[in-house]
Amino acid sequence: MSRDMRRDFASREELVAYLQQEFPQAAQRSPHVSETRGGRRAAEARLRAARYGTEYERTRNHLDGQVSRLSPYIRYGVLGLNEVREYALSHAQRRFEAEKFVNELGWRDYFQRVYRELGDDIWEDVEDYKTGFPAHSYRQELPEDIRQGQTGVRFIDDAIRELIETGYLHNHQRMWLAAYVVHWRRVCWQAGARWFLEHLLDGDPASNNLSWQWVASTFSTKPYYYNLENVLQFSGDRYRGTPQNFGHEAFVGTYEQIARRLFPNITLSDEHHEPRKGRR
Ligand SMILES: Cc1cc2nc3c(=O)[nH]c(=O)nc-3n(C[C@H](O)[C@H](O)[C@H](O)COP(=O)(O)OP(=O)(O)OC[C@H]3O[C@@H](n4cnc5c(N)ncnc54)[C@H](O)[C@@H]3O)c2cc1C
Repeated sequence: MSRDMRRDFASREELVAYLQQEFPQAAQRSPHVSETRGGRRAAEARLRAARYGTEYERTRNHLDGQVSRLSPYIRYGVLGLNEVREYALSHAQRRFEAEKFVNELGWRDYFQRVYRELGDDIWEDVEDYKTGFPAHSYRQELPEDIRQGQTGVRFIDDAIRELIETGYLHNHQRMWLAAYVVHWRRVCWQAGARWFLEHLLDGDPASNNLSWQWVASTFSTKPYYYNLENVLQFSGDRYRGTPQNFGHEAFVGTYEQIARRLFPNITLSDEHHEPRKGRR
């Protein structure tokens, strides 16, 4: 018999204790409680604090950039997509300057529509991998060092810790982490996608699985990969210094060199070596 859950709590601690008791498996998986507050009031505060115009467009790819962090509220319908779009258009300095932000909302909408078509098939490869490796050559299980954030690669381990402790990751970290799992460690995207959904506050099969498939190349024409230069460019001063000191050696090289190492069975055209600027 289904029953309503409690809604009133004297304190946040009491709420947390109640949830740990109601969802023991989740509590066992991770003792961390995200700082992110739920509810409409917190969502509106975020909406007011976010930047929607040129500042968003210029900085959004940087880990310390002006992204909105609205995703958990949008995910659970605390804020409607139209509502957020209208707010952005009317709060950018000039309406057209909100284009990039609204464009990102469009990706969410698109993924939801694809999900409606695919249903549970969202867990299947939409197409074959374009990496030169057949699907069965990818490991089915996520290695324990990745799950624990102990890979020895600093920017990857930092991202994993953030994912587990806060339930949020910047889009660029999601892309780096997903490509590391699938292309550097040759683990199937489904294992990574399942793991993300365990931790992300905004986790939903549409945006999550289709983004993993986009990285993997089963929902795109080519695999997404990157090099250390790209990581350094977008992560501020965190990892400046000798790559060896951070365990970053496997990412050193041009796009072409990295592609040859990761995908030795195929030839990627010059266009494929270009760092991606537009899509995300
Ligand atoms: C491997 C991987 C897994 C992902 N998993 C999820 C997920 O489970 N749930 C989820 O909501 N997003 C997911 N994303 C998309 C994106 O990373 C997040 O939506 C975004 O980082 C949320 O942060 P924000 O609210 O600060 O984004 P902002 O840049 O402020 O964008 C505003 C809103 O637009 C939407 N949005 C922005 N970028 C994207 C995008 N690339 N795709 C779809 N919607 C976008 C989100 O609703 C977001 O809240 C994933 C991306 C990757 C690469």
